[in-house]
Amino acid sequence: MYNTNSIKEILNYTEEKTGLTVYGWIRTKRESKTFSFIELNDGSTIQNLQIIINDTVPGYSDTISTLTTGASVEVVGNLVASQGGKQKFEIQAQSVKVLGVASPDEYPLQKKKHTLEYLREIGHLRPRTNTIAAVLRVRNAACFAIHTFFQERGFNYIQTPVITASDCEGAGQMFQVTTLELEKIPFIKDSNGKTTNEIDYSKDFFGKKAGLTVSGQLEGEIMATALGKIYTFGPTFRAEHSNTTRHLAEFWMIEPEMAFCDIFGNMDLAEKFVKSIVSYVMKECKDDLDFFTQYISPDLMSNLAVVIENKFERITYTDAVDILLKSGVKFEYPVQWGIDLQSEHEKYITEVVYKKPVIVTGYPKEIKAFYMKLNDDGKTVRAMDILVPRLGEIIGGSEREDNYEKLCARIKECGLNEEDYWWYLELRKFGSVPHAGFGLGFERLIQFITGMQNIRDVIAFPRAFKTAEF
Ligand code: ATP
Ligand code: MN
Repeated sequence: MYNTNSIKEILNYTEEKTGLTVYGWIRTKRESKTFSFIELNDGSTIQNLQIIINDTVPGYSDTISTLTTGASVEVVGNLVASQGGKQKFEIQAQSVKVLGVASPDEYPLQKKKHTLEYLREIGHLRPRTNTIAAVLRVRNAACFAIHTFFQERGFNYIQTPVITASDCEGAGQMFQVTTLELEKIPFIKDSNGKTTNEIDYSKDFFGKKAGLTVSGQLEGEIMATALGKIYTFGPTFRAEHSNTTRHLAEFWMIEPEMAFCDIFGNMDLAEKFVKSIVSYVMKECKDDLDFFTQYISPDLMSNLAVVIENKFERITYTDAVDILLKSGVKFEYPVQWGIDLQSEHEKYITEVVYKKPVIVTGYPKEIKAFYMKLNDDGKTVRAMDILVPRLGEIIGGSEREDNYEKLCARIKECGLNEEDYWWYLELRKFGSVPHAGFGLGFERLIQFITGMQNIRDVIAFPRAFKTAEF
């Protein structure tokens, strides 16, 4: 049994056909005296295929009571022009076989609408809802578009490690990976043989402290300074304790890194990239986006059009602070040169001021990572964040410091340990080149494209603070 006629394909047929076999799950059933309608969905599209079952179909009276919402069926029949106005074609059934029943008393996804919060509790069934299935199809299309975008431009797809033993990847938010038994942690003994409270990581699996990656960037730089243009697309882990609608503990990140590229080339690529993914999804997932527009976010299509049709505004951090100060708005976090822009500030700039995506550059070095290239003013770095209406930051990137001495100085300034970065520094010692890259949070992009409010509803299995059910 292998179904080649997906409902998506069938609905695209241009003429009537006989002898089709279709499979799917029943969404709804309507019974009348001499026949019943079922709406069948197989996940290939948000559209249902309407099936008409006359009471002359063999076994009708026995089968009909088991044709309930959620049950899986095999239908053989003819595709005929539909009498009703809603759809072009429907299936006139010759036989209907129930493959798996779904008891109406137990199956939770009945006609009644459930909240997204409730659906998160039934992560094994929620992909059978229109909303989550549409999200997953959009994710799929966006993945394809992302690979296509980079492949067409000569980027090599690189896989960076999920487990990292290098201490240098941005401390605080890292999940630790260990095989030490937490009840029997080996502590280092001091010279008198007295146990200290320093853990002896030489006894751990990797012989040193290890964790889950918070970004593939540093490894990406290794590859870019060998292959020229690379990108990563993989899972990223951050122990975010904040319970926001924009943060997950496990999310997917796309990180291109380009040798022989400065901050301007980086911004140009990022802008083209976002536009290209949005356009592709608008073209390929029209039905799903129509659904989101109707049920989730009425302005979705115009918001997406704004991204495609306009040049992203480019301003400096200093401009952004001026704008915020002059706005007269009383923000929860007071504004002053030197602060990290909060999501309320980011949203104000994109939503209220420019009404389109904005690229902010030239952040104070104190609030950005050590590896960003220092500007000549000695105060700001060549960072670039892309902010979008409704969400704020979706991309964070920069031109990297390619000068050995300056990088050493920044590492010291940030209170970090030069030895921990020995390999990263050597990239600046041997054939150093200007290079740049950025990180796009995949789920943030999907939130933007679908209009979904909560990041936990745009990933199949959300992992967040106190949440890892499915
Ligand atoms: P934010 O300030 O929004 O928390 P960040 O500045 O810590 O993000 P970066 O380190 O710049 O994030 O990461 C690059 C991109 O990864 C961000 O622009 C965002 O799209 C995404 N991202 C970062 N943290 C998360 C998270 N916890 N969950 C989902 N996406 C994230
Ligand atoms: Mn950032």
